[in-house]
Amino acid sequence: MKRVLVINYHRIDTGAETDTSRLEQLYAVRRESLVTQLDLLVKKQIPVIPLSSLVSNSVRDNFSVAITVDDGNETDYSVVFPLIRKYNIPVTFFLSLTGKNVSHLIREQIIELSGNENVVIGSHGVNHKDMTRLSRKEQEYELHYSKQFLESLTGKPVNFFALPYGMYNRQILRLSIEAGYKAILTTIVRMNNPRTCPLVIHRWSVKSETSIRQFEKMINPGSVGFKMNSVISMVKFSATRIIGGGMTNRFNLWFRQKPGKKN
Ligand SMILES: [Zn+2]
Repeated sequence: MKRVLVINYHRIDTGAETDTSRLEQLYAVRRESLVTQLDLLVKKQIPVIPLSSLVSNSVRDNFSVAITVDDGNETDYSVVFPLIRKYNIPVTFFLSLTGKNVSHLIREQIIELSGNENVVIGSHGVNHKDMTRLSRKEQEYELHYSKQFLESLTGKPVNFFALPYGMYNRQILRLSIEAGYKAILTTIVRMNNPRTCPLVIHRWSVKSETSIRQFEKMINPGSVGFKMNSVISMVKFSATRIIGGGMTNRFNLWFRQKPGKKN
């Protein structure tokens, strides 16, 4: 069986930013860690494929990974872009048009990114809101407006929508397909099977605290570490359905702050 692990990053920590929120810090992988992780993929000869191969069922290897980066931070351009050119690997950047308080990509950078053959631009919505908490009208706005904006800016089709906080339901999936997306992307940790031509693609988010040993386990689909992570992410998804994406993030931060818990 062919399997694809979609890996998700956010802002990259270069050590230069000092005014970021704790939530941003939780997801900001250090540049050196990202390099070590990419080196490991090369060393293990794991192919890095574009998302389009997954949805078009043209995956050739038994195990491959795809790389995505969420939110549209400036480090997409200043850190990730040079690295993906150096390693010659494909990446999909999911851009949120507003709603984040750290430095964002500017138009010229988005246009330059989208001009590279290894880069695909996807939508991460307009306001970075938990889609399950919005009205149908608001959901349609997030899906349609972000798609149109990015398509007119880049001159290229926007085929993928990464769900803010990874949250969705059947209505959101239906509206996404109606809006013209080929797939939506969650943050549920699960292997993707290209044979099933997924409309819903699952992803694993690397965090600042992810060690290289944990990363190595995650790029081994049969490992216990992967299965554990998969179960935890499903529980988190169910809990977030009840309490909302913002609350889940607050809980995550509180959990990491507990006395005696090492970071
Ligand atoms: Zn996001």
